[in-house]
Amino acid sequence: MKRITKENNEMECYTCEKGNLVKKKVEFKLYGESFGHFDAEVCDKCGEQFFDEKTSDEMDEIAKKKGLWGLESETNIAKAGGSLVIRVNKNIAQFLRLKKGEKVRLHPEDRNKLIVEV
Ligand SMILES: [Zn+2]
Repeated sequence: MKRITKENNEMECYTCEKGNLVKKKVEFKLYGESFGHFDAEVCDKCGEQFFDEKTSDEMDEIAKKKGLWGLESETNIAKAGGSLVIRVNKNIAQFLRLKKGEKVRLHPEDRNKLIVEV
């Protein structure tokens, strides 16, 4: 999902450059929370959705109100004994309702992604 600012009337998909963009109302979700339905241009080939600047701003406001703003973050891996420690910042911990001492399950999705199930 990309959000871009549309400056011209080009109706070709910005991502695959093959499909045509069709105006539709689509549901926007972030971290599993629905924000409602918004006007978008949807590619009829790859399905990529594009929202205009006004809509993107509106979504940012909703994200802030819902406490979903700034949940993505970078963290450095620390070492404790023989294990590696990944810190979870306060925003993510609150969103996931994580508490100290709680058990979570870890498994790699592939070589570049670690899943933490709470
Ligand atoms: Zn496309």
